[in-house]
Amino acid sequence: MRTTLSLLSAVALAWSGATSAATPCGTTVAENPDTGAVFGHLLYAEAAAADLAAAPPGFAGPGCEVLHRDAAAALDRLLAAARADPSVGIALYGVSCFRSVSRQSGIYCSRGRSLAALAARARTSAPPGHSEHATGYTIDFGDRRRRSCEVGACFADTAAGRWLLANAPTFGFEMSFPAGNGQGVAWEPWHWRWVGTSIIPDGALTARKVFGPARRRYPSDRVQPDLPPLPPAPVPIFAPAPLPDLDR
Ligand SMILES: [Zn+2]
Repeated sequence: MRTTLSLLSAVALAWSGATSAATPCGTTVAENPDTGAVFGHLLYAEAAAADLAAAPPGFAGPGCEVLHRDAAAALDRLLAAARADPSVGIALYGVSCFRSVSRQSGIYCSRGRSLAALAARARTSAPPGHSEHATGYTIDFGDRRRRSCEVGACFADTAAGRWLLANAPTFGFEMSFPAGNGQGVAWEPWHWRWVGTSIIPDGALTARKVFGPARRRYPSDRVQPDLPPLPPAPVPIFAPAPLPDLDR
């Protein structure tokens, strides 16, 4: 069985044209020889413990205990603005913030380790070592009043989801995986990474270095101005939006 799997992996590597490989979950998969990307997910180092800060009380949850201290300041301002808007108030909560590589491994590798299973899972989850959550700069938001939409497409139809689409960029957050993104990752309206509104805010330059490869290759300069029909799957209708500027 093991021999068969190895053979399949070798065939997959040859077919993909890749010349290097990675072994997430112990399975050999193709790795982009230039970027180290696996299944379209770029490499991300885990944040140093000294750079992590507690998530704000009232926002923190079991999956969102800490985040990068530089993003924490921006998150505080974002939450204050949300609280001041009656349509949102205290609805926003953190579903997932900083996630260690070890924790990511537990999530990604827990349900089948075949090449096909890992490739399919990569549409909605990053292989360990390739998750933006490891940087501490990325947050999955939820809406308390519609918890059933947690990490689901219908989050975009919640008050919190709509408010983030209109306002998160003002605080330096951009949606990592908008509908129709070139990275091949499923649309994730709940998943926002902090890059600062410009290079001026404390830590923004560092965050932009971390996400530079992703921003250059797959710029988040397209967002959905209106909700897609739910269901079916989101229709990528795009329009200019006030996103953080790209320093490319
Ligand atoms: Zn996420």
